[in-house]
Amino acid sequence: MPRAWLLKSRPDGMPDAGNFELGDIHEAPLAEGEARVRNRWLSVDPYMRGRMNDVKSYVPPFQIGEPLQGGAIGEVIESRAEGLAPGDLVQHMLGWRDEAQGPAGHFTKLPALDVAPQAFLGQLGVPGMTAYFGLLDVGQARPGDTVFVSAAAGAVGSTVVQVAKAKGMTVIGSAGGAEKCAWVKALGADHVIDYKTGGSLVKALAAAAPEGIHVYFDNVGGAHLDAALAVARERAHFAICGMIDVYNDAKPTELRYLSRLIGMRVTMRGFIVIDYFDRIAEFHKDMGAMLASGALKSQETVHHGLEAAPDAFIGLFSGGNTGKMLVKL
Ligand code: NDP
Repeated sequence: MPRAWLLKSRPDGMPDAGNFELGDIHEAPLAEGEARVRNRWLSVDPYMRGRMNDVKSYVPPFQIGEPLQGGAIGEVIESRAEGLAPGDLVQHMLGWRDEAQGPAGHFTKLPALDVAPQAFLGQLGVPGMTAYFGLLDVGQARPGDTVFVSAAAGAVGSTVVQVAKAKGMTVIGSAGGAEKCAWVKALGADHVIDYKTGGSLVKALAAAAPEGIHVYFDNVGGAHLDAALAVARERAHFAICGMIDVYNDAKPTELRYLSRLIGMRVTMRGFIVIDYFDRIAEFHKDMGAMLASGALKSQETVHHGLEAAPDAFIGLFSGGNTGKMLVKL
């Protein structure tokens, strides 16, 4: 019988295995217009932490006792829907489970691009779109600019580094640990800062960008955002993409409402990748070409089996991944 991860309880601070429960899914026979999909790849993403809280946001919270949701790639195994046939590879949001069933509208066939299917959960999916539009549209980054990006060895950050280099920018990336920093450098970054070595981020940034930065692509918030402000040039653009440093904060901090910059899209500018879904064709064309030509490098950190999904997810908050964190079923 197919299984799914359910939300057992809401975390207080860092999530742990006790917040998740594996349960059976009782599938009804397919109705007219529905398809059944066997999942092959599941995405785990930092934003899912926000959905574990019972708060109003741009996506509704997960419900206790209900299956979690998230990006997934699967293969149609049964269909009563026009346009979907067994064997088709599809992308959808019914992740965290072995099998997904629903109306055809829930499933999008993968475009015919010469890339591995899981690329649609990485550089050709939400992380890639976030990097591409966040840098070029929200951040208004232009050739010749100096760009600083945090969490630069992650799925979004590593793509920001490479798109920025491909478009003629100077790039400073920060990441945790020597191995990740070496990879960010190998992606083409001009300067890399290991924020875990304990030195002053402001000093390291000032040394890397003596004239200051034109663009900050924020994945982390907290001290990274503060340091980026310290070296911002006049009229700098800050693309506020994520603030993973505060997602597990159970207690108030002095900047308690700062992360509302993202969801509320206030100045500096917060954004959500869904703002750009209507430009997906443009994205596939430009990024698809870069990816197919081998111009973009990527890494995946892969956990195996549905059982591993909570560990993969929790690992995002301690840097357990280089590149995209995935679960292979
Ligand atoms: P990543 O692949 O970057 O994984 C998370 C990484 O964050 C970890 O590997 C770790 O790297 C780093 N990290 C974790 N905790 C901290 C911390 N306290 N301080 C500094 N770094 C930390 O995830 P994604 O690429 O999927 O997401 C990156 C960011 O983009 C997240 O903030 C996410 O919420 C946001 N996002 C926003 C979207 C939007 O629409 N606005 C869409 C998609 C993602 P290290 O080892 O280097 O510390």
